[in-house]
Amino acid sequence: MKDITFNNLDRPENIDRISNTLYELIIIGGGITGAGIALDAALRGIKTLLIEKKDFAAGTSSKSTKLIHGGLRYLKQLELGLVKETGQERAVAHQNIPHLVHPEKMLLPIVKEGTFGKITASIAISVYDILANVPSEDKKKLYNKEEILREEPLLNRKKLKSGIIYSEYRTDDARLTIELVKAARREGAEALNYLQVDDFIYKNGKVRGVVCTDHTNGKTVEVKGQQVVSAAGPWVDDLRVINKSKQGKSLQLTKGIHIVVPHSVLPINSSVYFDAFDGRMLFAIPRGKITYVGTSDTVYTGDKDTVVCSRADADYILDAVNVMFEVEPIQFDQIISTWAGLRPLIHEDGKSASELSRKDEIFVSDTELISIAGGKLTGFRKMAMRIIDLVQERNKSFAQTSCKTEEYDIHSDSFVDYSEFKQFKATLKSKYAALSDYDIWYMATTFGKHADLIIQDAKSRGGNLEEDLIKAEIQYSIENESSYLPDDYFNRRSGRLYFDIHSLTKHFDLIIEEFQSYFKWDDKNLSQITEQSRRYIEEVTQIKS
Ligand code: FAD
Repeated sequence: MKDITFNNLDRPENIDRISNTLYELIIIGGGITGAGIALDAALRGIKTLLIEKKDFAAGTSSKSTKLIHGGLRYLKQLELGLVKETGQERAVAHQNIPHLVHPEKMLLPIVKEGTFGKITASIAISVYDILANVPSEDKKKLYNKEEILREEPLLNRKKLKSGIIYSEYRTDDARLTIELVKAARREGAEALNYLQVDDFIYKNGKVRGVVCTDHTNGKTVEVKGQQVVSAAGPWVDDLRVINKSKQGKSLQLTKGIHIVVPHSVLPINSSVYFDAFDGRMLFAIPRGKITYVGTSDTVYTGDKDTVVCSRADADYILDAVNVMFEVEPIQFDQIISTWAGLRPLIHEDGKSASELSRKDEIFVSDTELISIAGGKLTGFRKMAMRIIDLVQERNKSFAQTSCKTEEYDIHSDSFVDYSEFKQFKATLKSKYAALSDYDIWYMATTFGKHADLIIQDAKSRGGNLEEDLIKAEIQYSIENESSYLPDDYFNRRSGRLYFDIHSLTKHFDLIIEEFQSYFKWDDKNLSQITEQSRRYIEEVTQIKS
C-alpha cells in the first residue's frame, strides 16, 4: 500500500537530512494553522520544513467541534468580516476534500426564553447565508413547531416554539490536518512530529533557525532557516517569551470540552444548535455510533499539555442536554469519552471568554519571528495565504508565485465531487458485503479512496476481519502518515478514541503489538509506551472532579 513516503521508520535519516539543509521557511506547530501554511508555502515553491513537538493535530486541532462553519454566533458580536471569510471558505474546503468536509443540515430550535427569537434568528441566518454565498437551494428554511418535531422528535415540546434548518459542514479536524500535512509533503515540504523547538538560532540579532529536542531519543537537533513562522496555537506566547519578543497583545486561552455518549442514549437524527440557557449555545452532533455535545468556554490558566474535561464541565453540558431533549435524563456515568481543547484567543480587556474575538492575529518581532494565533479551523486556508504573502513580501529572494490552494485537491486520490464520493461508498458496500454499514461509512469518511486499499490489505491477511482491519489501518498510518505512538493511530489517524472507544479497549493489546512489530522498542520503552497509551484512554473516559 503506497501513498507518499511519510513515516518515522526512517527517522535517523530524516533528522540527518533536515540538520544538513538550509530551509527558506521553518514552521513551528503541526496543527491546522501550521499544516495549512506548509501546504501553501510548498505549492508556491518555497523550501519548507514543518516541526511539531507532539503529533500533528495533537493540540487544539483535534479538539474542536469538528464543524467547518462561519460561526453564526459571531454575528451577534458583529464580526461580519470573520463570518464572511469563514462562511465562504466552507464550500472551498468541501470542494477541495469532499470525503472529509460534508454538508450538514443544522437545526436551530426556537425556544421559550432562548437566545434567539424567531425573527432575530431568521434575520441572522439570512445574513449568514448571504455573507457565505450559500446557493438558494441550501438557504435556511423556517418551520413551525410540529414540522420541527417531525424532523427531531426528541426536542423538548414544552419549550419548543418553532425552528430553522440551515446549512453547515462537518469534518474530522485531526484527519483534515493530517491530510494537509501529507499534501504539503507531497508538494515537497518536509514535516516531522515529536520534534520540539526549545530555542532559536540568531544571526546578527535575527532568527535564522531553531534548536530542538527530538522526543524519540532526547537528542538536540539544530535546523537552519531564513524565515521562521510560529503557528504554535496556545503555545505561541511561550515561543515569544523564548524569543524575548512578547510585548503588546497577548493570548488569552479558553477551554472548551465535548462529551460523547452512545447514539442510543441521545438518538437524535440531526445536528442541533441549542441553548444552554446561560446565553451560550451548544452543538449536539450525531456521528455513527455516538452523539457528541459541546462546547463550554471558560478562561484557562492551567497546564497547556494536560487539558481534561472536569466533572463541572461535563455537568454543564449534561444539564443543558437534559433540559433541551426529551430523553431519559442522561447520567454522568453514561459518558463514554470526552475531549478538551484550548482556544488561542487574543486578550481584550474587560471581555468575557465568550465575547473574545475569534479573528486571527499576526505578530512580527524585531528579531523577524512571525507568529500567528487565533482564528478558526475553517479559516485555515486564508490564514495560510496571509502568512505566505507576508513571508514573500519580507523575503524577496523566495519564489514570488501567488497562492494556489483555492482549487487544490488535498487528497492524493481525490473525489471530483460529492456525488463521486457517495458512489464510492455504494461501491465499497457492494464489494465488501462482510463489512457493516458503519464500517463502510467510517472507512470512506476517514480515508477517502484509500479506504479501498486498506480494506483490500485487511482481507488479504486472511484472519479475523475486524482485527485485520485495525492492523491494515495501523500499517497505513505508520508507513504513510507518520504515526509513531499508538495514540497517534487511535486518536488522530482513526478517531476511534472518540467515536468508537469500544473497538479500542477491545483491541488495545493488538494495537500495542502492531506498533511494537514496527518500532521494536526495548522492554523499558515498550512498558512506558503501553502505560502512556492506557493513560490517554483513561484521561478521556474517566472524568475527575
Ligand atoms: P493547534 O492545533 O493547537 O496547533 C499548535 C501546535 O503547535 C500543537 O500541535 C503543538 O503541539 C505545537 N507546538 C507548540 N509549541 C511547540 C514547539 N515549541 N515546538 C513544536 N511544536 C509546538 N474552529 C472551527 O472552525 N470549527 C469548530 O467547530 C471549532 N470548534 C472549536 C471547539 C473548541 C472546543 C475549540 C477549543 C476550538 C474550536 N475551533 C473551531 C477553533 C479551532 O479548533 C482552532 O482555531 C484551531 O484548531 C487552532 O489550530 P492551531 O494550529 O492554531 O493550534
